[in-house]
Amino acid sequence: MPAYLVIGNGIAGINALEAIRSLDPRSPLTLIAEEDFPPYSRPLISLVLEGALPPERLPIRPPDFYRRLGVRALVGQRVVELDPKAARVRTDRGEQVAYDRLLIASGAHPRTVEAPGHQLAGIFCLRTQAQVQAMRAHLPGVKRAVVLGGGLVGFKAAYALLRQGIAVTMLIRSPHPLSQQVDPEAGALIRRELERHGLEVRVGVEVSAFLGSKAVEAVELSDGERLACQMVVVGKGVRPAVDFLPPEAVRTDSGILVDQHLQTSLEGVYAAGDVAQARDLVRGQPWVNAIWPVAAEQGMIAGANLAGRPVVYRGSLGRNVIRIFTLDLMTAGLVNPPRQDDYQVLTHRDPRRGTYRRLVLHRQRLVGMVLLGRVEQGGVLLALIQRGLPLEVDPQRLLEPTFNFASLLP
Ligand SMILES: Cc1cc2nc3c(=O)[nH]c(=O)nc-3n(C[C@H](O)[C@H](O)[C@H](O)COP(=O)(O)OP(=O)(O)OC[C@H]3O[C@@H](n4cnc5c(N)ncnc54)[C@H](O)[C@@H]3O)c2cc1C
Repeated sequence: MPAYLVIGNGIAGINALEAIRSLDPRSPLTLIAEEDFPPYSRPLISLVLEGALPPERLPIRPPDFYRRLGVRALVGQRVVELDPKAARVRTDRGEQVAYDRLLIASGAHPRTVEAPGHQLAGIFCLRTQAQVQAMRAHLPGVKRAVVLGGGLVGFKAAYALLRQGIAVTMLIRSPHPLSQQVDPEAGALIRRELERHGLEVRVGVEVSAFLGSKAVEAVELSDGERLACQMVVVGKGVRPAVDFLPPEAVRTDSGILVDQHLQTSLEGVYAAGDVAQARDLVRGQPWVNAIWPVAAEQGMIAGANLAGRPVVYRGSLGRNVIRIFTLDLMTAGLVNPPRQDDYQVLTHRDPRRGTYRRLVLHRQRLVGMVLLGRVEQGGVLLALIQRGLPLEVDPQRLLEPTFNFASLLP
């Protein structure tokens, strides 16, 4: 009977536990997880910040989940050391756990900004439900917030605060938020929609200091200007949660590199979710697509492989569906391709209907899309990208609003 160990109770870890148990009902199965809240939906925490969802609605599994699954759950403990030679980990409470097969599903940690004053109250990252609870407690009295970064998390934080009537200044490098998800034209439309609701965007400036006595009262910018604010949200991206790995024990790049079975460079040690770097479907190279459906699928597949049922992981695909006030957005795949002849980019904008569409093709195959305003046909386009099927129609026809997309799928 192999002893299984899973690190992390995000969606990748949870799905792995379930997959292992469905294939191996009896072997010892241990979970070590830093967060002691029941497994919950991380993408929904910004709705809690917004006040649109009570925190009690976040959990995605019942409180007795671990017991029912026969999992020894060491929650509220952090793995601080992994010894691959001894096949053992140690936690911050001194607990030692040996394993035969290990899954690292420890997700990612937010990058912080180490400028002077970064320890003042009122400066937050948005990653865990505990951080959101702390942010909500700080909200009364906040009239202006500063959001650092315009990626998915910075965008979601800004959106949640704007929805509550708080003025938000966003400091970003590219001229618009969501620059990883959309192209500049869609980005400009999104920025305009956010500005209509009180967002101020500053491009090309950084925070050089946080000012205040106990709580943040202002930020000082790299150009010397001071912005008064009562809250700061740091959304400067994430780094894989691998602090417990000894240097060079496992092959890493932007995440832990895994093969087609999600096994790391160490025999019997697998990785899944935001911490893992697996093959990207449209890029054809290893990539970290740090999104929920990817983590969920990888968790399931890694769990099956751990339990001895070989399952090949085809690859991940970045994708998102987002509502920005009255504007729907759907994106997938490679939306800003490298400047090469064999990529074709088609766009269509209808200002009257308020829609925008961008499709990216590579050798007659759809590899990326941005739909803004109308996203109903997105499901078919997503399936086309995922299946990598060559298009049998003139790609221009995909821009026609009345085109029957279902006809494209066999
Ligand atoms: C605000 C926000 C909004 C998002 N919105 C979307 C969205 O709209 N759509 C989408 O697809 N994705 C979204 N995401 C991303 C999505 O939430 C993640 O991709 C997904 O949760 C990753 O799951 P995971 O299981 O890999 O990692 P995580 O959910 O990060 O779980 C990892 C767990 O491991 C624990 N851990 C870490 N280190 C250790 C250690 N040393 N010892 C023990 N435990 C450890 C952590 O505490 C954590 O609980 C969003 C993320 C955030 C933060």
